[in-house]
Amino acid sequence: DIAWVNGQISEIGRAKVPLLDRGYLFGDGVYEVLRVYRGRPFALDEHMERLADSLAGVRINYPLVSERLRTLIDELVAQAGYAEASVYLQITRGASVRQHAFPAGCEPSLVLTVTKTQQPERGQQEGGVGVITVPDDRWAHCHIKSVNLLPNVLAKQKAREAGAFEAVFVRAGNRISEGSSSNIFAVKDGVMVTPPLDGHILPGVTRRMVLSIARQEGFPVREEDLPLEFLRQAEEVFLTGTTIEVLPVTKIGGTPLGSGIPGPVTRAIFQAFTRKTESQS
Ligand code: PLP
Repeated sequence: DIAWVNGQISEIGRAKVPLLDRGYLFGDGVYEVLRVYRGRPFALDEHMERLADSLAGVRINYPLVSERLRTLIDELVAQAGYAEASVYLQITRGASVRQHAFPAGCEPSLVLTVTKTQQPERGQQEGGVGVITVPDDRWAHCHIKSVNLLPNVLAKQKAREAGAFEAVFVRAGNRISEGSSSNIFAVKDGVMVTPPLDGHILPGVTRRMVLSIARQEGFPVREEDLPLEFLRQAEEVFLTGTTIEVLPVTKIGGTPLGSGIPGPVTRAIFQAFTRKTESQS
């Protein structure tokens, strides 16, 4: 696995960033994770678009030149020698004296890593995974993909300790937002529902693709508030994310969901998504 830190390439375990980097001190930065399928970055334009929105959201002025980044990613992927890889890209406000307000003359810092993809096991894809629900105690700007992930880290750990794969955030007692590192969809009475882009969730690149697949394939789909009861009574639930792709949920808080096995809508969406990743030019 390799890292690129402001132009310096090294083995990932040896890569260094300055102590005074604001990403380290304040979580003052944003990031992206994208997949490489058969040596080619997938949905790069969508990730670059979201990165630009995240940068604007935290007022980091970084000239994103998509073509330059694409070339850099291609070079690093080739150097890492993985056909199937994950690319992590982080931009922080940079390193300077420690003060909360933006220091004058602070230059943003860019870091990239290329690692082997850690995909869910086959059994998880075929049998589905369990989730737990946790109160959504995050800030009001969850559409920004910021490196401040402490609530997400604590939620995921809680899921692990409960023997579940993911923790799903619930707002105001009964409104589902998203997973700690995934978006969520529920199917009930043949209608697919996913929470809207209202600042409480990340605009997932996979979410967006799944919505377009669903519309193409003629599944009724709505972006609207998803109550906890809807989730509990759903016939099918699935998570979406860059590394998990489309992952069936078959248990909520230890209770089997619907028929207890991945359903036909989830399978159809997963298959259509796989065709997309396999057919990218
Ligand atoms: N929601 C959160 C909080 C995430 O961290 C992620 C990705 O890791 C997602 C949703 C899924 O987004 P994407 O499909 O772009 O990977």
